[in-house]
Amino acid sequence: MSAVYELQCPSCNKASQYNFSDYLLLCPFCSATFKFNVDGGQKELFGDHYIVPNLLDAGTVKELALEWLRRIHHKPGTVDKEFFVVDVQGFSVPVWIISVEGHTAWKGLVRKQNRQVASHTSNDYLTESGQFRRSYRWAVLARSNICETWGLTRLHEPTEPIHVEWDGFPFDSTFSRGRLMDEEQKSAYEARHYFEFKYANGLPILGIQVEEEEGLRRARNHVELYHYKLACLNADYLIDYRTELEVAGIQLIHVPIWKIGYLYRPRSLVRHFYRPKEKRLILDGYGKGILMGELALVYHDKIMINAYVTGFASFIFFLFGISWHPAFLLVALFSLGVSGISIFTSLRKKAERDEEELKKLSASIGSMGGSHANANATGYGRAS
Ligand SMILES: [Zn+2]
Repeated sequence: MSAVYELQCPSCNKASQYNFSDYLLLCPFCSATFKFNVDGGQKELFGDHYIVPNLLDAGTVKELALEWLRRIHHKPGTVDKEFFVVDVQGFSVPVWIISVEGHTAWKGLVRKQNRQVASHTSNDYLTESGQFRRSYRWAVLARSNICETWGLTRLHEPTEPIHVEWDGFPFDSTFSRGRLMDEEQKSAYEARHYFEFKYANGLPILGIQVEEEEGLRRARNHVELYHYKLACLNADYLIDYRTELEVAGIQLIHVPIWKIGYLYRPRSLVRHFYRPKEKRLILDGYGKGILMGELALVYHDKIMINAYVTGFASFIFFLFGISWHPAFLLVALFSLGVSGISIFTSLRKKAERDEEELKKLSASIGSMGGSHANANATGYGRAS
């Protein structure tokens, strides 16, 4: 599918090689962005293309990652000896930014406060209604495989207790997250320039694979779903719900993203029971904030370590019991019990997590199928 052809830039007329599987083409000489119609041969310049400058290099990124680990670790002094950055990669990633306002009205049943017993009679509930309005610069990744750049699949972290099932995110609140220094620094959106290769400061520029209309459609889907879940928080039973979206504009922005892989190798006893697995961080190359961070030792790991330790102890007590005094057999039995419970808890947590992952996966596959089916149904720019 990916075919490379030579083409003249419609802006500077210089010839260069272009990959026609990309939706928009970027001239390596003058940074012009244009569409090329393969059938008709027409070229059309695309004006609304911006780039947020990358301000970091691999060395600084590594130092920032270690600094973050020092901040969250209970013994900051040991970070340099126990944490190892094994992978640092930067990209300038294209995202569609859709300026959209969502207006939602809802109606639902709310349980009366003093009726805790769930008898489900009509007397226990009041009908309530309300509305809310929010505006966003909603970001949708302009790459066809959202898993390609690890961690960009679930960047949205709403303040409300909501399970996010979409890959888009509100640009401004996300790209100010985890920012520690330079509070007066301009927001990433304000700091954008008209697209020029030089602002990537050495980062590879990823091509634009998702069409404008798809970006727009996905943003509408995400905001609608988000608002539905917000509405659900207001009532015990949501009866009616309606969201109207007003799209004010769409633009394309290349944003600098750094991916960091690190390993945790504890120096304490824990290391004998813990197999290091690479964990990842995603860092904003402009604001220097950690956009997403995976912690090294998770609950599951700690419980597994507990299981190993108590399992080993029960074996030792068992040896004591048969060679010295039968009372140790009881202790061995107790340790074995604790070990068993730990393994059970750990496996159950893991199963819950796997199920969660599976749900996310099927949700994203489902929405992919849906967007194919509707590929030509939704016109871009049509409000509500
Ligand atoms: Zn050019």
